[in-house]
Amino acid sequence: MSFETLGLAPELVRALGEIGYTSPTPIQAEAIPLVLAGHDLMGGAQTGTGKTAAFALPLLQKIAAGTTSARGPRKPRALVLTPTRELAVQVHDSLRAYGKHLKFNSTTVYGGAGMQPQVDALRRGVDILIACPGRLLDHMQQRSVDLSQVEMLVLDEADRMLDMGFLPSIRRILDRLPKQRQTLLFSATFEDDIRKLALDFLREPKEVQV
Ligand code: AMP
Repeated sequence: MSFETLGLAPELVRALGEIGYTSPTPIQAEAIPLVLAGHDLMGGAQTGTGKTAAFALPLLQKIAAGTTSARGPRKPRALVLTPTRELAVQVHDSLRAYGKHLKFNSTTVYGGAGMQPQVDALRRGVDILIACPGRLLDHMQQRSVDLSQVEMLVLDEADRMLDMGFLPSIRRILDRLPKQRQTLLFSATFEDDIRKLALDFLREPKEVQV
């Protein structure tokens, strides 16, 4: 099994070779073709399984494919929600590394850091936004972010976000995203509250467990 046979673009395959990934992990092999085909996805995977690349690679392929024609400051077309600042930074670093041969803008927003630099970065134009729920709501309320163009949404470590009490924030954010979008939800466990969230916000999701 190789990354090419999963349908990934040469720019991504090249970056993976440079990073030293030789073959996909099980979650990557299962999830990447489903995401490229446009399905919503529930991914049951712990940290350490390669779940970040499982969503980051097809996300980059879909979003970077549409960035060249866009003129002027761009609005986020992909949104990744993470429970913590550390995970947001990690996901961002992974996206930059995997996408180093592609053209796109990305930034992070999280609490415990100044608003203004985040507002400035959003104003310059962003294709992929990685955000923690609380701070994203702050930006939505002060209209420093426009989520009307979001085509892809990832909920990373959904169980941890719920454990941290982010469910009401997540629901408020998701209620305001375009209905026409692809949604990927990753979680180590699928308790009732996660399944309920998926039922409300995913469309006929495929399930992948590793
Ligand atoms: P994650 O589960 O996303 O936190 O990834 C765990 C670790 O596995 C990270 O350090 C990745 O860089 C690494 N990794 C992810 N996919 C692969 C792969 N296909 N081959 C080798 N290492 C990988």
